[in-house]
Amino acid sequence: MPLTTREVQTLDSAHYMHPFTDHKALAAKGARVITRGEGVYIWDSEGNKIFDGMSGLWCVNVGYGRKELVAAAAQQMEVLPYYNSFFQTTNVPAAQLAERIVSLAGERFSHVFYSSSGSESNDTIVRMVRHYWTTLEQPERSVIISRKNAYHGSTMCGASLGGMSGMHAQGGLPIPGIVHIEQPYHFGLAPDQDKDAFGIEAAGWLEQKILEVGPEKVAAFIGEPIQGAGGVIIPPKTYWPEIQRICDKYGILLICDEVICGFGRLGAWFGSELMGAKPDLITFAKGVTSGYIPLGGVVVGKRVADVLIEKGGEFNHGYTYSGHPVACAVALANLDIIEKEGLVDRVRDETGPYLAQHFAALSDHPLVAAAETFGMVGGLVLMKDKSQHLVFDEALEVGMLCRSHCFANGLIMRAVGDRMIIAPPLACTRADIDEMMKRVRICLDATLKDVQLRGWM
Ligand SMILES: *Cc1c(COP(=O)(O)O)cnc(C)c1O
Repeated sequence: MPLTTREVQTLDSAHYMHPFTDHKALAAKGARVITRGEGVYIWDSEGNKIFDGMSGLWCVNVGYGRKELVAAAAQQMEVLPYYNSFFQTTNVPAAQLAERIVSLAGERFSHVFYSSSGSESNDTIVRMVRHYWTTLEQPERSVIISRKNAYHGSTMCGASLGGMSGMHAQGGLPIPGIVHIEQPYHFGLAPDQDKDAFGIEAAGWLEQKILEVGPEKVAAFIGEPIQGAGGVIIPPKTYWPEIQRICDKYGILLICDEVICGFGRLGAWFGSELMGAKPDLITFAKGVTSGYIPLGGVVVGKRVADVLIEKGGEFNHGYTYSGHPVACAVALANLDIIEKEGLVDRVRDETGPYLAQHFAALSDHPLVAAAETFGMVGGLVLMKDKSQHLVFDEALEVGMLCRSHCFANGLIMRAVGDRMIIAPPLACTRADIDEMMKRVRICLDATLKDVQLRGWM
C-alpha cells in the first residue's frame, strides 16, 4: 500500500529538515509531495498535474522521463558503479566527458575538475585560484570580488562568494578575502538611466573595488552571466565586455559561474560566449546531467591549467565523488540528447525568441512593470503602480501571493521578492510555451484580483 499524502507529510515534518525552509510554517500546512514527472510536467501525490516552469531548480533541461538517461545510468552501474580518481586512476566516462566539455567550451580551455554540485565547484575555484597565484609567487593575490545578490551556492565558500544578505547573516559569512560590488540591475537601480551607459557604470564598480583593495591583492572576479536565483537579472549588453576589459587591464582571473547559464539555457553552450566575456574558469553543474544525478565541476582554461600542471605540484583537493562514473555516463547521454535534438540552436533561434515575444506582451498587464527573457530564462516585475514606478510594501509579499496562485493553477513559477521568474525545460515546444503562458496569465489575473480585493492597489 502506498503511503497517503498525509502520512508522507507526517514523516516529512517529523524527520526531514529541508533546505531553505521555515519548518514551523511548513509543518502548519504540510509539504507538497511530488511523485512523478513526464516531459515538462510533474504530478503531486493528490494527482495534480503541474507545468514545471522552473525545470526543477533550473536543471531538468531535457525534461522528465528520458529513458536514455535511465539506461545510461543502469548500464554504467552494472559495469562499474563507482571508482575514485585519486591515486592515479581514472574511468572511461569521466575521461570522455572531460574531453567533450572542453571541446564545447572552446579552445581557451583544456581541463575539467569534477565535483558533485555547483557549491563544491565554487569551493574548488576559490582554492584553485589562490593556489594558482601562489604558484606564480604572488600569494598576496587572494581577494576574490563578487557581487551583491549573486548566487554561488550554499557551502562556506559558495555562500561567501554569493551576495545574499540573508545567507551572510547565518554562520559567520563571508569568509575572509571575499568582497562584493553592486549588481548590474538596471530596472532596480537606475531605470531612468540609459541602459548601455548604466552597464558601463556598473562594470566600473569593479575597477573602483580593485583600486580600493589594491590591484596587487586581487585574484579574480566571479559572476553569473545572467544572475539566476537573484531574480533573473539580465545585464545591459555593455556590461560584460567592460568587465572583461577591466579584468584584462589588471591581469585578474575572470570566473563565470555557468551553473544555470551553461549547457544551452541561454541559446549557446555557455552563456559567457553570448555576453562577450572570456572566462579563465567556468563553474558548471545542474544542466550538465539535466539534474538526473548530481554532477558539477570547473572547466579550467589553459592560462590556469598550464601553470598548475607545470609548476603547481600536487593540488591537495578533491572529492570522493570527483569524476563519478555513473554521473559522467548520464552527462554524456544528456549531451547526446541536447545535440541530437538541436536544443541549443532551438533555444537560440526558435523557442527563445518565441518566449521573448510572449513575455514582452505581458507588459499590457496592470501588475507587470517589466518583463524580459534571454533564451529560456525570464523575469517579470510586479508593481503597485507602474506608471509611477511604485513598488508594493515588501511585507505584503505580493510575489509569494502570486506564487501560491501559480501552484493552485498548475504552474511552477518562482518569486524573488516581487520578481516572478521562470526557466522552463529547454525541450519546451512552442505548444508547451503557449500552455505555460496561458497559465502565467491566469495566475497574474488571480493575483491582481486578490491584490485589489485586499485594497493593496
Ligand atoms: C544552483 C547554483 C549554484 C549551486 O549549485 P548546487 O548544486 O546547489 O550546489 C551555484 N551557482 C549558481 C549560479 C547556481 O544557480
